[in-house]
Amino acid sequence: MNHSKKKQANGVRHKQYSNQQQTHYSNYEELGDFNNLILHNRIFSIMGEPEDHNDWNPRLIENTCDEPEAIIPNIPANARWAQNGVTVAGGHGRGNATNQLHWPQGLFVDDDQTMIIGDYDNDRIIQWKMGDTNGQVVAGSHGQGNRLNQLNGPTDVLIDKEMDSLIICDYGNRQVIRWSRHSGTTQGQILIDNISCFGLAMDDQRYLYISDTDKHEVRRYQIGDKNGTIVAGGNGKGADLNQLNSPGYIFVDQQQTVYVSDWDNHRVMIWNKGEKKGIVVVGSQGQGNILTQLSHPNGLFVDTLGTIYVADSWNNRVMRWPKGAKQGTVIVGGNGKGAGANQFKVPTASKFFEEKNNPTKNDQLEKIPNEVMNGLKEQGLFGIQIPVEYGGLGLTNTQAACLFEIISAHDLSISICTGAHQSIGFKGILLFGTDTQKRKYLPKLATGEHIAAFALTEPTAGSDATSIKTKAELSFDGQYYILNGTKIWISNGGIADIFTVFAQVPTIDDKTGQKQNKMTAFIVERKFGGLTNGRSEKKMGINASNTAQIFFEDCKVPVQNVLGGVGNGFKVAVNILNNGRFGMVAGLSGTMKMAIQKSINFAKNRRQFGRTIDTYGNIQEKLVRMEMRQYVTESIAFLLAQNMDRGISEYQCEAAIGKIFASESAWFVVDEAIQIHGGIGFMRSIGLERVLRDLRIFRIFEGANDVLRLFIALTGFQYVGLHLRELQKTVKYFYFNIIVGESSKRLRRGIGISSGPNINEYIHSSLHPSGLLLSKSIDYFGTVIEQLLIKYGKAIRDEQFIIHRIGDITIDLYSMAVCLSRCTQSFQNQISSAIHESNLVRIWCEEAYERINNNINLIQNSAFIERTRLMSELSGEIIDKESTVPVHPLSF
Ligand SMILES: Cc1cc2nc3c(=O)[nH]c(=O)nc-3n(C[C@H](O)[C@H](O)[C@H](O)COP(=O)(O)OP(=O)(O)OC[C@H]3O[C@@H](n4cnc5c(N)ncnc54)[C@H](O)[C@@H]3O)c2cc1C
Repeated sequence: MNHSKKKQANGVRHKQYSNQQQTHYSNYEELGDFNNLILHNRIFSIMGEPEDHNDWNPRLIENTCDEPEAIIPNIPANARWAQNGVTVAGGHGRGNATNQLHWPQGLFVDDDQTMIIGDYDNDRIIQWKMGDTNGQVVAGSHGQGNRLNQLNGPTDVLIDKEMDSLIICDYGNRQVIRWSRHSGTTQGQILIDNISCFGLAMDDQRYLYISDTDKHEVRRYQIGDKNGTIVAGGNGKGADLNQLNSPGYIFVDQQQTVYVSDWDNHRVMIWNKGEKKGIVVVGSQGQGNILTQLSHPNGLFVDTLGTIYVADSWNNRVMRWPKGAKQGTVIVGGNGKGAGANQFKVPTASKFFEEKNNPTKNDQLEKIPNEVMNGLKEQGLFGIQIPVEYGGLGLTNTQAACLFEIISAHDLSISICTGAHQSIGFKGILLFGTDTQKRKYLPKLATGEHIAAFALTEPTAGSDATSIKTKAELSFDGQYYILNGTKIWISNGGIADIFTVFAQVPTIDDKTGQKQNKMTAFIVERKFGGLTNGRSEKKMGINASNTAQIFFEDCKVPVQNVLGGVGNGFKVAVNILNNGRFGMVAGLSGTMKMAIQKSINFAKNRRQFGRTIDTYGNIQEKLVRMEMRQYVTESIAFLLAQNMDRGISEYQCEAAIGKIFASESAWFVVDEAIQIHGGIGFMRSIGLERVLRDLRIFRIFEGANDVLRLFIALTGFQYVGLHLRELQKTVKYFYFNIIVGESSKRLRRGIGISSGPNINEYIHSSLHPSGLLLSKSIDYFGTVIEQLLIKYGKAIRDEQFIIHRIGDITIDLYSMAVCLSRCTQSFQNQISSAIHESNLVRIWCEEAYERINNNINLIQNSAFIERTRLMSELSGEIIDKESTVPVHPLSF
C-alpha cells in the first residue's frame, strides 16, 4: 500500500465547522486567488512534499498568507484555486534537518494554522508554524525504533485538545501513541498496539477512529478502550460494499459518518453510523484518470456541504466531488507528475518498494514476481525518461536520478532490470532513433509492455567491444540485414522483446577495395524470428534479474532498423553507456544511504561493554567515512545529471569517474555496514549480505573499472594536449575539463602563458583551505603529466602501472572539485547541513590531497619504477609456471 498523506481534524473549538477542519479565511466572497492559496497550500501539503530535483536547494518555504480573521464553515461550490502552489513546510530537499522533510505523511492543521506533520521517513512528528522556515520536532527524532522515545514511520497525527496531546499512528511499530504537548515530554505512551494503523480521526465526542491496513477495516475507540468497534470494512480484503482494501486516510463528520480512502479499490466510501455496508461516493469505476475515476485515493477532507476533497495520489491531482456528483473536478494538480509549482510528485515509488516488493524473496526465487513487475510498470518505472508524447514520464536526468536512488536503495535486481531496459536497452532509440523508430517502439517500451535489452558482449569480446564477431549481412534484395552470432550475459536477455544489438556489417572499402567490418547498431525484435536465448544464468548476485545468452541464427532485421547509421555502432554503444551511467551513480548513492541508515540504527541500539557501539571511535570513523563516500557519490551523480540537463555533451569522463567511484564506494560502504552489524550483518535476515553480493558486478559491467581508469587517465593526457582553449568555458561547472584544463594551465605557465582563474574564486570562503589543496593538487598533477609526456610521449599508454595511478589521482581531484562545488551551493542556499557538509568536505579534501601526493611521489620515485619492472617479471614467472611460484614450506 502506498499512501501519501491526509489532514485530519478534531472537534473541540469550532463546533460550527464539521469535524473542525481548521480552515481560516477572511471575507471569503472577496477572496481572490491569494486567499484561495491558503486552502491550496493545505491540500498541496496533503498530497506530498513537492520535490524540485533541479537544484541542490529545491525550494524554500514560502508563505504569503496574512493572519486569518474568521472561519469559513464551508467552501462555495464555485470556489477556484490558484494553480500554482507555494511551499509551506519543507522545501529544502529531502533530509532530516529541521527545515527539511522526508516523505511527509499525515498532516493536521491547528486553529492557528500550525501544521503538525507526520515526517514519515524521519520517524518524527514535526510542528511547523505558518511562515517559519524551520519546523520544531515535537515527537520522535531519536532514530527509527520502538523505544518509547522513538517512532517508526508515523503516517498520521492529530491533536487531542482536551488532553493537549498528539495522537500518532506509529505505523512501522504497529501502535497508536499519545504524546503530550507539554514541554519537556521526551516519550510517548502506547494507546493501542498490534494494529496496522494508517489513518486517524477524532470526532466531536472524542471517539478515536483508526484505519487498519492489514485487517482492511476502520475501528472506533473510546478513550481507554483497546479493542474498539468496527465501523467500516471488517469483512476481509475485497471490493464488495461490506469490504475495504487497504483503507488509508479517514474523515469523520459530526454524524459520525466515516469517510474512507479505500486505497487499493481506488474509491472513497462513506459508512453511515451503524451500517454494515458502505456506499461508494467517489471513483466507482476502477483505477484510472478520467473524472469518474481515482488512482489510489489518499488524503481526504469533507466540508459541511458534504463536498469531498480527495488527494488522487497516483494521478497527481486533488479532486472535488460535490455531494451526489457522478464525477469530480480537478481543482489542483493534474498537470502530470513533476516539481513545477502546478504539479505534484508523489513519492510513490519508495512506498511501492516497501509495501509490494520483497528483495530477499526475489533473490531466493531468482525472479522478479509478476505482480511486482506489473506494479513497476503501473508506476511508469519502465519509461522514466521517455518523453510524455510517447507515453513515458518524461523526467529530466536530474529527476530520473532521484528515482534511480530510490530503486537501488530497495532492490538492486530491479535496478538492473529497469536499468538494462532504459539506461541501455532502449536508450539508443532515444538518442539515435529516427522519428519512425521512436513512434514505433517507444510507446510500448514506456509502459513496460515491451522489455528492452542491450546486446554487445560476446564470448571473445568483453572490454574490447570493437572485436565483436556477430555478423549482419545485407540480404540480396537489400531489404534486410541477416544476423548471425552469439551474445553473452545479456541483462533481460531472456525476457526482452526489443534488443539493441551490435554487429559487424561486412563492406568493401571504396578506396582500397579491401574487406572491412563496420560495427553497426540494430533494433531487433524477438518476433523477427532467428533470435533465441539460453537459460537464465546462475549468478553471485542480482539474482532476481535475468541474465542470458542470445543466439542469432539468420535473424532477418529490416534495413529500417539500423540505429544511428551503418558503421556508427561503436559511437552508438559508447554514447548509450555514457548517457546511462549517471543512473548507476545515483542508484548506488541510494544503496549507500540505505546501508548507512541501517548501520546508524544498529549502532545506536547495540550495547557492548556497557555502551552503545556508536560511542566508540572505531564505529564513528566508519560512519563518517561511509557518509563521506555517499556524499561524494551523490554530488557526482547530481552534478552529472544537472550538467546533462543543461545540455553539456562532454561528460564521458565524469560519467566514467562516477561509475568507478560509485561502484567502489558502494562496495566499501556496504562492507563496512556489515562490519558495524557484526555477526548479524552476515545473516540473510538483515539483507546486507544480499546487497554486497549484488554490488560485486557493478565494478565489472558497463565498463570494467580497471579499463575505465585507463580511459580517464588517457583522456586526461589528451585534454592536456588538445583542449587548452576550452578552459574558460568549462570552469563554471567544475567538470572534468577543469581538472585537466587547470593542469594545462600549469603547462601554459611553464611555457610563459598567463594562468587562468583560481579555484577559490568559485567556492565558499570557508572552504578556501580545501580549495587551496585542490589548486595545489591540480598544479602537481600538471607537473607530473608534463614530465610523463616528455618522458614517454605516446608510449605512456602502455605504462599501466603509472596510468592506473594517474586514474586514481584524477578521480580524487574530480571528487574534491565536485564536493567543493556542492558544498559552496549549500552555503549559498543556506542549507541547514552546510556546516556539516563543509566538515565532511574538509576531511575528504585533506585525505584526497594526501593520496594524490602519495601517488604523485610514487610514480616519480625510481624505486617504484623498479618495483613495477620487478612485478612485470614476477608475473611473467607466475604465468609461465601456471601457478604460484614459491615452493611450499614443507617442500612439496
Ligand atoms: C551480470 C552481468 C550482466 C551483464 N549485462 C550485460 C548486458 O546487458 N549487455 C552486455 O552487452 N553485456 C553485459 N554484461 C557483460 C559485461 O559488460 C562484461 O562482463 C564487461 O564488459 C567486461 O567484459 P569481460 O567480462 O569479457 O571481461 P574482460 O574484458 O575479459 O576483462 C577481464 C579483466 O581484464 C581487465 N582488462 C581487460 N582489458 C584490459 C586492458 N586493456 N588493460 C587492463 N586490464 C584489462 C578487466 O578490467 C577485467 O578485470 C554483463 C555481465 C554480467 C556479469
